[in-house]
Amino acid sequence: MNNFQRTLLAKHAGTARHAYNWGLALCKQILEHNKNNPSDKIKFPTDIELHKWLNRLVKPNNTWYYDVSKCAPQQALRDLRKAFRDFFNKKLINGKPVGFPRFKKKYKHDSFYLDGRFKVDHFKIKVPVIGELKTYERLPQGIKVKNVTISRQADRWFISFKIEEEIKFSTKKKDVVGVDLGVKALATLSTGEVREGAKSYRRFESKLSRMQRLNRNKIKGSKNYKKAQCQIARLHKKVANIRKDTLHNLTTYLAKNHGKIVIEDLNVSGMLANHKLAKAIGDLGFYEFRRQLEYKCELYGSELIIADRWFPSSKTCSNCGCKKETLSLSERVYHCDNCGVSLDRDLNAAKNLAALAVSSTVSACGVESADTP
Ligand SMILES: [Zn+2]
Repeated sequence: MNNFQRTLLAKHAGTARHAYNWGLALCKQILEHNKNNPSDKIKFPTDIELHKWLNRLVKPNNTWYYDVSKCAPQQALRDLRKAFRDFFNKKLINGKPVGFPRFKKKYKHDSFYLDGRFKVDHFKIKVPVIGELKTYERLPQGIKVKNVTISRQADRWFISFKIEEEIKFSTKKKDVVGVDLGVKALATLSTGEVREGAKSYRRFESKLSRMQRLNRNKIKGSKNYKKAQCQIARLHKKVANIRKDTLHNLTTYLAKNHGKIVIEDLNVSGMLANHKLAKAIGDLGFYEFRRQLEYKCELYGSELIIADRWFPSSKTCSNCGCKKETLSLSERVYHCDNCGVSLDRDLNAAKNLAALAVSSTVSACGVESADTP
């Protein structure tokens, strides 16, 4: 963020605060007047009326209003109207009725609102009037931002946004899918589909380890050492981003195309014990996979089912349901001694997870499945 933007952010917050305080002072006067003149009451203004008056009475005398987006003061007046509404309606917050609106103090809870056109990229967001803002956190891709609230905490600015709730309720190609996060592949689906992890980062990974090895011989703190450290950090970020994109692709695909998605509740210690699995999902971990699925399922109107941590998805035969006592990680093919079926180990696990969704529907609805004897 450059100094110009910093000033502009402060200006927006200042304008929002000014509008709020002006509106509050005016409303107080009106209430005072109405108290003293019961026979000659003035109608309590709406936020739209307040904004009209602001444009006519306040803006011409305070020209800095013209430097900022009109959204900032407009939303401030909407917030004020809501604060009064809550007060008049004796709305309870934490069991206590909401108090009379108070004047906003400088730097305390400084914030403002913007709407309009936004452009989201991985680490930046373009907002109206202010321009492109860099973010420390990577932003979700493929979303439509409708409005943002920018707030100051200490000397840092935070941006939070609402995404357009375009719940697509996409037509689902498949009713149910079980997902086995893989050792061999990133994910194996019960439909037989296999999702490979991103291959491209392996190239960077070997480069990364080479650089790390080389840097060991350099003198700590030297110019060359610092330069290499910087390159290493950049590569780390690159690898992490590729992994994250891969994960986003997978979770979007799952949520968009399936009515019910069943995944395992992997525990962290189990993940760490399984080194290869940890590597496949990357440093993002299972929780990132689950977090993405949770919000995307909501977005696309599908259901996420988490299997019990102890559900023996790998050891159970997806064909006949009988359970093996032991199954070593090296056994890539599941062979059932009972029914004689042989299939890929991960596919077997995914099918067991998918079957769980079917049985859980039956018990949830209290309807007996047709094939129950
Ligand atoms: Zn079997």
